[in-house]
Amino acid sequence: MALSGLWEKYRSSWGRLLSTAAVRELKLRASFDVDLLSRWRIVNRVAAGTIPDCPNCTNICCAGLENVVSLRLRDIARLIDLDRTDLMTKKKPNFPASMLAERPGLGELVASELWRTLPVLRQTGDLKVCAALSKRLTCTLYPHWPLSCERFPYSLSVVRRQVTWGSRCPSEKRDPTFEPRRRALFQAALDAYDERVKDAVLLTHARPALDELGIGAWLTGPDEDPFEDAPKGLPIIR
Ligand code: SF4
Ligand code: SF4
Repeated sequence: MALSGLWEKYRSSWGRLLSTAAVRELKLRASFDVDLLSRWRIVNRVAAGTIPDCPNCTNICCAGLENVVSLRLRDIARLIDLDRTDLMTKKKPNFPASMLAERPGLGELVASELWRTLPVLRQTGDLKVCAALSKRLTCTLYPHWPLSCERFPYSLSVVRRQVTWGSRCPSEKRDPTFEPRRRALFQAALDAYDERVKDAVLLTHARPALDELGIGAWLTGPDEDPFEDAPKGLPIIR
């Protein structure tokens, strides 16, 4: 994939520091940890054989404003390849201040430059249903679904060096035969983090090349408003 080739060009930390773009690299490092994960240091705290029990779940995580899917560069490239760019939007939702106060993780995400720059999956209707969800409640993108869906509900804390079960998923099932799926979810949680690092590096150093790949058209520029029009009557944090 062309995006992988682009990453190979920029993956050397020293190469970036010794380049003419060193100032950009230093600015990036001032606000972002650019190291890929040392995977052997991360512990999987989810109990053995435990995976989500989606068929018996009453809380559909593919709907709801708070569940809007933030996309990575790899997700954008995939949607372009699949000819499903109709699912993407550059306009991020406005979260009510109360929702951000209740969910510090969401507040942290919204404050980040990556959230501002990268697109999200479109949501439809008052229930804010993901545009990729079929009427039969299946994901029309599977198995090429976004990285954050691939790892859900497993959640990585780099500071604590662990992967845990995310609080937004209330339904689990446990059996030794689910162990391969548990391992895949753990791996996906680590992969999602590394893709975030790659995005920060490529957005800092390779914007013209991303434009050439057709990805740039889906990125929000510094002078563009990244948000949907604010709904009237709700206190909004931007
Ligand atoms: S909340 Fe968890 S169990 Fe429910 S549909 Fe989502 S991933 Fe599946
Ligand atoms: S992309 Fe698929 S799994 Fe992810 S929120 Fe949308 S419908 Fe659900």
